[in-house]
Amino acid sequence: MKNNNLRGTNETASPAEHATMKILSTIQRLTNQRESLEEITPDLAYMTILMVNLCFLGNPNRSSDGWVLIDAGLPDSAELIQEIAENRFGKNIKPKAIILTHGHFDHVGAITELIKKWNVEVYAHELELPYLTGKKNYPPGNPSLDKGLLAQLSPLYPNEAIDLKDMVKPLPSDGSIPWMPNWRWIHTPGHTPGHIALFRNSDGILIAGDAFTTVRQESATAVLTQDKEIKGPPAYFTFDWTEACQSVKKLKDLNPSIVITGHGKIMKGAELSRELEKLIGQLEKYAKSESKNNGIH
Ligand SMILES: [Zn+2]
Ligand SMILES: [Zn+2]
Repeated sequence: MKNNNLRGTNETASPAEHATMKILSTIQRLTNQRESLEEITPDLAYMTILMVNLCFLGNPNRSSDGWVLIDAGLPDSAELIQEIAENRFGKNIKPKAIILTHGHFDHVGAITELIKKWNVEVYAHELELPYLTGKKNYPPGNPSLDKGLLAQLSPLYPNEAIDLKDMVKPLPSDGSIPWMPNWRWIHTPGHTPGHIALFRNSDGILIAGDAFTTVRQESATAVLTQDKEIKGPPAYFTFDWTEACQSVKKLKDLNPSIVITGHGKIMKGAELSRELEKLIGQLEKYAKSESKNNGIH
């Protein structure tokens, strides 16, 4: 029977999924991770919840101009996100929109609750909409790509589409982003079909989602210590490595000055361009061997 309510990951989570979330939050407690905002520019800050980043765009000194949330973290983090937003922008200042880089569970975990609380519109690439409106599920996580703990847990990660109904809208096709006037979105498929990155020309800031990461996501120790090392998209969830490689090239060509990725710390300047160059070389090799394995030519 069709449920008319918004369907979010934490409402539909299976016992296995609940167990996974428990493991993840235990890891967080044991490693004493604290969530706090790190400001990149006066109008852009990001925070890490356990292993995933989300961004707050908007100048707190001009809260009345509004602000935008980019990505919506892990399940069960809605309260924390609201609290951080209130501290930064003031009580009862709702965001103008939520922009999603893609629909994986660790980027949309709190979205259902946030929509209920804020009654705010959500924007994503049109190719991502089937996964956000309950029409299509992502393939399950593939643990064979890495022996790390987080990769091994990946079959338990929720891959079932959430259903945001008409609260989610496609991004304008001209590359503009609602409520983010100086930014544009860039289609970066590979990790998911409708994955996007967000770029601001004036200062070269790139919000890359999971197009690539600055921490080795599949390795639990690297994730926990957040050791900085530029890497491809989280492997256990990436479906097309040739496209993923093209997407990283597209982002490198923008010559970004600084990047905030979906996972890991920020990276800047010469280190960023050098590491991206290296990553493209690795991804090209990997994409070639993958397409051979899958018989794609
Ligand atoms: Zn992802
Ligand atoms: Zn992710």
